[in-house]
Amino acid sequence: MQKVAVLGATGSIGCNAADVLSHNRDEFSVYALAAKNNLAELERQTDLFHPERVITASEEKFPALQAMIGDRTVVGCGMEAMLDAVQSPEVDIVLCAIVGTSGILPVLKALEAGKQVALASKEVLVLAGELVMKAAKASPGCGIVPVDSEHSGVFQCLAGRRREELRKVWLTASGGPFRTWEAEKIRNASLTDALAHPTWSMGRKVTIDSASMMNKALELIEAKYLFDLTADQLGVIINPQSVVHALVELNDGSLISQMSIPDMRMAIAYGLSYPQRLSFPGSHPDLGAIGKLEFFTPDSKKFPSLEFADAALRTGGTLPAVMNAANEVAVDRFCAGEINFGGIWRIVGKVMDMIPVEPQESLAQILAVDAEARAKAAELQV
Ligand code: MG
Repeated sequence: MQKVAVLGATGSIGCNAADVLSHNRDEFSVYALAAKNNLAELERQTDLFHPERVITASEEKFPALQAMIGDRTVVGCGMEAMLDAVQSPEVDIVLCAIVGTSGILPVLKALEAGKQVALASKEVLVLAGELVMKAAKASPGCGIVPVDSEHSGVFQCLAGRRREELRKVWLTASGGPFRTWEAEKIRNASLTDALAHPTWSMGRKVTIDSASMMNKALELIEAKYLFDLTADQLGVIINPQSVVHALVELNDGSLISQMSIPDMRMAIAYGLSYPQRLSFPGSHPDLGAIGKLEFFTPDSKKFPSLEFADAALRTGGTLPAVMNAANEVAVDRFCAGEINFGGIWRIVGKVMDMIPVEPQESLAQILAVDAEARAKAAELQV
């Protein structure tokens, strides 16, 4: 029986993880749940799993959460409570699905304590990839198992393979709702258009990032650090059916792919069960019914996110953090109706040019750069 701490329990990944965990009660129990604002969902999962600790990241929400479930479990609040939970000797696996930068410190501490970290938070590697992978290598545990579908796919393709065999890693992209649109029409797309993802059902931020292909840009950065790859060893290929998640190209030209239905529970289950595999009834892609798998080369002129990613991959240091922060603010401004869809790219490009790049030294330094990029992105007129 593996004990799991789930950080970001009430988001899209967290709720899918709750589903996986509730169907695999012989393998897993939930030790801790942490989330920020959605107290009703925290209460639902508390009744489902009877965890020993439930934490809200928000000081303001703490009294309300205490009143709701304080009779059933130990209720905590803030970063200290989260760090305490992930380092508990009782915990085997930490699933980190926190959106934003507050997942970085818990992941570093969990690695230090030798926990298996099932990692879904993009920001952890995008901002602090060098620091986090250093901690993963030094960890007495098995380190990080990626939960993002593409990285889980790469991880599975690489299992048991020698490094010298590897030539290139290809991440697949669905292409999002704007894949076949003209550039001008994309720049003026509405929020409703951007939220209409053709294959995946995900949270709002990641859905908009898929439409701009900024999601793929962030995933390229993640892959660079996770698998220790250079910009030239990374590529993107569009598979609109979202059945092929990753391709690993070997030095004889063979391509090894990982395929599964587009369901986040697949990668979550593997992240939790690694190195075992859970049985998942009815989950195989029916290739006969799907009929065809298409592939397209992405157009980085139409989707400048891929050009930003190339710069961030080659330069490294604090540039990926700047790209991520500027994008987050730009997406908020797009959702608020302040800028058009093309404005997201204009903001990200400008902020990446404005802030001098530094080598990654410490979490404090990275968070300061993150704050600076956010401030610039918030005030830019585009
Ligand atoms: Mg993904």
